[in-house]
Order: sequence, then structure tokens, then C-alpha cells
Amino acid sequence: MISNAMVGFVKNSSAIRAMFEEGKKMAAEFGAENVYDFSLGNPNVPAPAEVKEAMKEILDSEDPVLVHGYMSNSGYEDVRSAIAQHLNQLYGTSYTEKNLLMTVGAAGGMNVVLKTILNPGDEVVTFTPYFGEYRSYTGNFGGVLVEAATDPDTFQPDAEDLAKKITDRTRAVIINTPNNPTGVVYTADSIRKVAEVLEAKEKEFGTDIYLISDEPYRELAFDGVEVPWLPDFYRDTIVGYSYSKSLSLPGERIGYLVMPSELADFDNFVSAANTANRILGFVNAPSIMQRTVARCLDAKTDVAYYDKNRQLLYSALTEAGFTCVKPDGAFYLWMKSPVEDEKEFVAAAKEEHILIVGGSSFGCGGWVRIAYCVAHETIENSLPGFRRLAAKYELGK
Ligand code: PLP
Repeated sequence: MISNAMVGFVKNSSAIRAMFEEGKKMAAEFGAENVYDFSLGNPNVPAPAEVKEAMKEILDSEDPVLVHGYMSNSGYEDVRSAIAQHLNQLYGTSYTEKNLLMTVGAAGGMNVVLKTILNPGDEVVTFTPYFGEYRSYTGNFGGVLVEAATDPDTFQPDAEDLAKKITDRTRAVIINTPNNPTGVVYTADSIRKVAEVLEAKEKEFGTDIYLISDEPYRELAFDGVEVPWLPDFYRDTIVGYSYSKSLSLPGERIGYLVMPSELADFDNFVSAANTANRILGFVNAPSIMQRTVARCLDAKTDVAYYDKNRQLLYSALTEAGFTCVKPDGAFYLWMKSPVEDEKEFVAAAKEEHILIVGGSSFGCGGWVRIAYCVAHETIENSLPGFRRLAAKYELGK
């Protein structure tokens, strides 16, 4: 018998993954070229050449006992130190290896932070729409996910609503920018307002409220849009980074947490996070990948490839009459469903062999997410189907 908790987790299991599995079945039936799978945020741009070179060099030249061995649960000191210095150059900070913990991707990092800070019944606030896994990650530790609103047109955080949602049980607020699923980059002004609310609420309740910045899409920003560095705005910010998207390595499971020295009880916090990484069963982040990313600090993915997809999809779909949010970052297009129940629209799209994910999976019904980390041709070939959908729902008339 599986546990009661798992019954709930399985029931609410990711619709994104379900659609991805469906896509594989449809590809087998109709041929992959006749299925337009926009369901999963799996980068289609290959990892930069530096990654392969680094992995080869590590295997050829580094001590195999070291490379394949256990290390500190926080990760290799030299790797953490190299990343700390890289961040210091970028953001004018003064991190050392003590501020860094290598993680099993962003998902691993988020689970480590939440295990570190949550008591059962504690609340974690996030802005809608949001990456649906936050509900499970919070639930893993008996926490409760609370939704705060964003502006219905711009999808920027609504600080006034945030203020209403924070209670004496709030332990953290999760922010994800560039955002999955909207592609919106939260502005410095939005972040400042969020920080002001958190400071005021910490005083009001006499509690510590952490800002958790989940940022796997940090480098994926277009048109020179600046992605604010959240620790500049709020002291108790924990950054969770991942190389899944920035170096196209989602299957390799590598990322890190940054914990600032200014955190109250810093030493205990770091040692708890280190222990959480171990007892969650990660033990440590994958060894070869830690050593690889430390050699690839300046490597960049082909953002121009995603940008071309973004321009093509956004212009074709808005021309067809759909209402879309122009993405500033990540590789998702957020589109209004032409019917209120977006599940009906998702099903109609599937009839056209177009696989997209309903906004309800992100806590925001009436919208859909289109992941455009796909081949250019997939977008081009999907457009007739999208145009037929626009005609079916009498858009653009
Ligand atoms: N957070 C967000 C917002 C994501 O979109 C994803 C993956 O799509 C993750 C976390 C998990 O990333 P990782 O593969 O690094 O665990």
C-alpha cells in the first residue's frame, strides 16, 4: 500500500509530464514530424561545445578516485569557490565557497531550502501563475502553498495582494523570474515592492521570512532586458540556480544554492542545508557535473535560437487573433485560451496534434503555456493548425 500522502501527490501529478508521455505515444502513431509537442521545457539547443570538452578533460586528466568519490555534502570546495568568484564578478558580491551548496538541479535546491526552513503547517507564498511542482515541494515537508496574485495584464507580482497573504506562519516567498510559465521578467520596481512588504511583515510578526529566488532561466532574457539580482533588494534571499536550461543539461541534474552570510543564524542555516542535501538522499550533487560546470562558467547557450522561435510564434499567433503575453525571457509563450475552460481548448489543439499545457497546472485557468524550446520547423509546421483553431473560435474577426 502506498502512503496517503503519495495518493495525493500522484493524483495531482504533473499534467505537463502526462502531456509529454501522450506526445511520445502520438509521435509513434502519427510520426514525430506530424506532432507539434510544446509541452515540456526540455531545451532543444544542444549543450555548448565547452561542456563536452570539459567532461572529456575531467575524465582524461583528473584523479579518478577524486572524480568518482564522495565529497562534502555541499559539493567540492574548489567548484563552489569558482562559482562564488564568478558571481562576485557579475553582481559585485563577496561570496566564498561557504555561501554555496551544489544541488541536484533547481528541484533539488528548492527541496533542500524548504526542508531546511519548514515546520509542518508553515506557509510558503508564491505568485500565480507558478511552476506547479512548488505545491509538491512544499507539501514534501508538511508546508502549505499559498497563492498571491499578479497583475492580470502584465503578470507582474501584486505586492498589495502579497501583503494580504502573509501571516505569522509564512516562512518563505518563492519568486521565479524569468517566469515559467509566462516568460515575464519581474521588474526591479516589482521586486522592490515585494521586498518592502516582506520587511514590513517581518517586523509586524517578529518572524524571519525568506525570499527564495528560483532562477533556472536567469540567462534566458531577450532584447537586452535586465533580470534583477534579488539579493540586491532583500537581505534574506536564497538563490536557487540550475544549469538545466542555461547549459541545456536538464538530465544531468546540476545547480546550486547561494545562502548569504547576512542570514540570521548563518552557520546553522548552512549546516542544516548541507544535512538536508544528504538526508533527502541526494548526498551530494553529481560529481562530474560539478567539476564540469566549474570549467564552463563563461559558456553560453544559444539564446538567439530561442529568440527566433519567440518572434515567429508570438507574431504568428497574435496575427491569427490570439492574445499572448510577449515573453521577455525563458522559453514559454503564455496565451489566453479563446474559451474560459482552457481544458476544452487544450483538447481542441490536440486534435490538431498540437500539445500545450493548460494554465490550471500553473494555478491560472483560462490560459495555456506553449514551450517553444523546439525546432524552428516544429513551429512553422504547427502554424496551419493554430490558424484553424483561431478560425474555429472566430478569433481575429
Ligand atoms: N523551477 C522552474 C521554474 C522550472 O521551470 C524548472 C524546470 O522546468 C525547475 C525549477 C526544475 O529545474 P531543474 O531541472 O534544474 O531541477
